Amino acid sequence: SGRLLEVEDLRVEFRTRDGVAKVINGVTYHVDAGETLAVLGESGSGKSVTAQTIMGILDTPPGFVTGGAIRFHGRDMLRMSGEQRRRIRGEGIAMVFQDSLSALNPVFTVGFQIAEQFRIRRGMSRQEAKKRAVEMLDLVKMPNARQRVNEYPHQFSGGMRQRVMIAMSLALDPEVLIADEPTTALDVTVQAQIMDLLAELQRERRMGLILITHDLGVVADVADRIAVMYAGRVVEEADVHELYARPAHPYTVGLLESIPRVDQKGQQLRTIKGLPPNLMRIPTGCPFHPRCPMAQPVCRERVPPLLTLSPTRASACHFAEELINRG
Ligand code: SF4
Ligand code: MG
Repeated sequence: SGRLLEVEDLRVEFRTRDGVAKVINGVTYHVDAGETLAVLGESGSGKSVTAQTIMGILDTPPGFVTGGAIRFHGRDMLRMSGEQRRRIRGEGIAMVFQDSLSALNPVFTVGFQIAEQFRIRRGMSRQEAKKRAVEMLDLVKMPNARQRVNEYPHQFSGGMRQRVMIAMSLALDPEVLIADEPTTALDVTVQAQIMDLLAELQRERRMGLILITHDLGVVADVADRIAVMYAGRVVEEADVHELYARPAHPYTVGLLESIPRVDQKGQQLRTIKGLPPNLMRIPTGCPFHPRCPMAQPVCRERVPPLLTLSPTRASACHFAEELINRG
């Protein structure tokens, strides 16, 4: 296929002393050049583990890939040699993590850490690599890049450190950038600045951007499509406007009702009742049935597959059509 990055029916389990946790149970999504996919879900839905598996940084053991494919330009990364996969990392696909303080090394200047990639992967001299590091800090709109390149991670605010992380991830000019909760630790104003920066860089560089988040409000303005995850599956995938206007899965309905809206200040927000399932004992049938206000007896028996409803949306609910037509 002509897809840039495509995850198909991915399955990952964690084998622990207490049992086997089925963390990823058939995840399918893709991102193409120049588009932004938001991956949305509660913690434990498998969003980060999917990303770690794409990046080849899954903790093995206890994590094991038990099925599926991750294709980059049509080639399955799960069937490549370690050397081929390492080459894609950084240059083909790069990742920005939530916790910039622990992702950066405290004993080296940020400039050194950015420059290291140019030296190791591009064979540049120390001087040349440092010059490129300053350019990368300029790219992410770091004020006084020429001075700050010599500073250590703890000398930066959370937002500025996240800019350093973005600079580092873009150093090798990746085609796909995965950002895992890149703004969660930041205050609201800084969140918006980082989102704007990511959106701008994505457009300028025509990257495929995967934004992982538990907060639909944060990604709504920048995402083209959204994949909603629950219990290690994608339960709905849709164009962002369609998803907002007419969600095709009861879980998405619940998520939308729990976002604060400017026009409904002071109103009690609704939250989804109950808890995500224990991944060692996922409910039979539709894994959402114990929490679903629309559940019917069939939901306990049959797993709803992710079915395409239109060219721009898919849902894994037995009653998706009814839900859309309800208006
Ligand atoms: Fe709810 Fe049934 Fe749809 Fe699952 S399949 S989301 S339980 S209505
Ligand atoms: Mg996570």
